[in-house]
Amino acid sequence: MDAAPNATGELASRFDLRRCTRCIFPDSLPGIAFSDDGTCNHCRTYKAPEVLGEDELRKIIEGVRGRFAFDCIVPLSGGRDSAYVLYMAKRHFGLRTLAVNFDNEFQTPQAKANILAACGILDVPLVTYRSRWGTGKKTVHYAIRAALDGGIRAMADCFCNACSYGYRACCYIAAEKFNVPLILWGESAGEYTQPMTDEHLRLGLTARIRKQFSGAGLLYRLNLYRQRLEFPVRGNFWRNLALLAPRLKRADTREIAFFDYVPWNRDLLKRTITRELGWKKPDDSVSTWRIDCKLDRLVTFCYYNIFGCSKHCFGYHNMINDRQMSREKALGQELRACSIPGAELKELLAGDIELRPDEVERIIGFSRKH
Ligand SMILES: [Zn+2]
Repeated sequence: MDAAPNATGELASRFDLRRCTRCIFPDSLPGIAFSDDGTCNHCRTYKAPEVLGEDELRKIIEGVRGRFAFDCIVPLSGGRDSAYVLYMAKRHFGLRTLAVNFDNEFQTPQAKANILAACGILDVPLVTYRSRWGTGKKTVHYAIRAALDGGIRAMADCFCNACSYGYRACCYIAAEKFNVPLILWGESAGEYTQPMTDEHLRLGLTARIRKQFSGAGLLYRLNLYRQRLEFPVRGNFWRNLALLAPRLKRADTREIAFFDYVPWNRDLLKRTITRELGWKKPDDSVSTWRIDCKLDRLVTFCYYNIFGCSKHCFGYHNMINDRQMSREKALGQELRACSIPGAELKELLAGDIELRPDEVERIIGFSRKH
């Protein structure tokens, strides 16, 4: 049984969960099954992500090097992984790199400081995109208001709308504008948690209709269109109309996930960016993961109340099975991350997202119902 290290509110009440003895998944996770030795079904079927190798990456790099003013774009969030990719692109591979940042209006001050420090130290030009119309905040505001009647499950996917379009679109816009032949994404397979959670976040038809077609739902979609109007990617008219993810039409630009080629090594990554780029996590953050967006706390709040664990827990599962992190350390971070002070949640919901006091109370109340 786990003890709550910092019982700051209602969230601490679920810490006495049974957990997998290898990773830290709790028994509240839908579909989990423990065997006699206490390990979970996810651990028993775990397969480490395959890495294609640095030689393969070099082949791609040599194919693009020197053709245009920039060899590659590195999308920067201010978080850990993208900072490392920037460092590797510039210092290790000697690429003429352009950094692109999409500020979703919820970027933490530390993320901004990290971006500026890294680009300054590495002498990499930086382009930042931020909506002049405040569509990031408006999208999240109306998405939440539209989801309120649907409860916590309907809330869970409200937050990533602040950047799900913009962070890709702005890289594509920059690739077109500056003729850049390669985009190096910093996403790693270890963080990929979508298939495990999507199934349990799917809403029923009534809830979906209510979310889409209520007054707030329509304003939410209006702001999704405004995002696409403000940051249009060439050749994406029909995709934009259908609110689909943007697609790059420039034929001679290639996009790859950097960590498909170079092993994602948590310790090496942390050591490198701290030492070489002066990279810091905010003082109040328990892990170096996802420090770039203020909304992460709200995502944790929702996941905790739906799955009994944070979204990071899916990543810890991968890291523990990959021997990149000890179970003890992951559990410590998980328990601390899930102890979110109610005051902090309220400040985010009322201050940053500008919800009314009664709406804030309803959302905080979701934790009591589950
Ligand atoms: Zn497990």
